[in-house]
Amino acid sequence: MPEILSNNTLSSNTELFSRAVRVIPGGVNSPVRSFASVGGMPYFVAKGEGSRIVDVEGTSYIDYVQSYGASLLGHAHPVVVEAVSSAARLGVTFGAPTLAEVELAEKICSSVPGCEQVRLTSSGTEAAMSAIRLARGFTGRDRIIKFAGCYHGHSDALLASAGSGVATLALPGSAGVPVSAVAETMVYPYNQVPPIDSSVACVIVEPVAANMGVVPPRPGFLEGLRVACDRAGALLIFDEVITGFRIAKGGAAQLYGVIPDLWCFGKVIGGGLPIGAYAGPRRIMEMVAPVGPVYQAGTLSGNPLATAAGLAVLSLVDDGSYKELSSKVAGFAEEMRMALSYGGLDPQVPTAGTLMGLFFGKEEVVDYEGAKASASTGIYNRLFHGLLAKGIAFPPSPYEALFVSLAHTEEDLEITVAAVADLAKTLT
Ligand SMILES: *Cc1c(COP(=O)(O)O)cnc(C)c1O
Repeated sequence: MPEILSNNTLSSNTELFSRAVRVIPGGVNSPVRSFASVGGMPYFVAKGEGSRIVDVEGTSYIDYVQSYGASLLGHAHPVVVEAVSSAARLGVTFGAPTLAEVELAEKICSSVPGCEQVRLTSSGTEAAMSAIRLARGFTGRDRIIKFAGCYHGHSDALLASAGSGVATLALPGSAGVPVSAVAETMVYPYNQVPPIDSSVACVIVEPVAANMGVVPPRPGFLEGLRVACDRAGALLIFDEVITGFRIAKGGAAQLYGVIPDLWCFGKVIGGGLPIGAYAGPRRIMEMVAPVGPVYQAGTLSGNPLATAAGLAVLSLVDDGSYKELSSKVAGFAEEMRMALSYGGLDPQVPTAGTLMGLFFGKEEVVDYEGAKASASTGIYNRLFHGLLAKGIAFPPSPYEALFVSLAHTEEDLEITVAAVADLAKTLT
């Protein structure tokens, strides 16, 4: 690996952050990175390898951010690095179709039950926005339903009561979004099947909510949505930008046995490069231009670096990898629970496949109200800073999932549990 630090030995996090805030709003290109939620100042990453990152001061951290879920194999996996380098040597973008786009679409269709066609985009935001447009075009209806605390990117119509960075900043939606843009967006509590009538084009849901911490679907929730959508002639959209190729090869459809009408993907399928995708059966997807009347496009969509990285990642994982990671996460969650309980706290460490969250409070968190109550204890923020000082990087917000990658070793997890046990008594 090239010595990245050599060019940066004079930088400090403080110095870089003060330069950053001068030329970038808040010093960051995505709000949660600013530490606004937990307080303090972000570290600037110089490099990553496997489960670890190293900041510009040379401090190494066990990383549970993992690019908010984009990284499944850990940082700088040699096969992914080689795939991206080889692709770059052949030209990084053409604006004409390439083999890798076809291969990635084939890979997604063969992995996800019910999925027949895929359109690639450059972000999850575009994927969700386009899936909504397609659902409206297909049904000829305008109304959409989403759930409080679910995040579907930052397009106007979906930025009503979203989780993640928006929840963190406690904004109801965002300034700059006209009332008319969300006038057809209905928001309901997660884990309850809402009333769905014949004015509804689609219901969009994170099949495991992972942008308000991790809130798994209660038994019957996804099944209930499927039945209610079918009855109303509305489409069911699973936003699997986080869960796709992370909780299982076939995502939520495989784990919970419920098949939506449309999917959104992102994060893992780009191997850490910018990507998104929306997908579904041919009878719906063929409404998209140039075959059908629903317009959607992108200069860099399906670009050669993102497709090469995504294919490299997906070629390295199989059902066995997800099984292995799920059991690693289940064990880790149990030990975290014990370490935190020992400190006299009321931890909840929900898991869904390979995803894991962390809440505090006696009452089980099943929706956004519960997630907010947990965050308001402030325990997560104290834990975050205690761990950071011990070389362990949790996400800088109580509303994010904890991402364990395939590169995290048993030793990484043991070090983390020991650090949590050590801190537990100081957190109340
Ligand atoms: C991250 C995320 C998005 C947005 O993806 P970007 O690539 O950040 O635009 C959409 N939906 C879900 C569920 C996500 O987690």
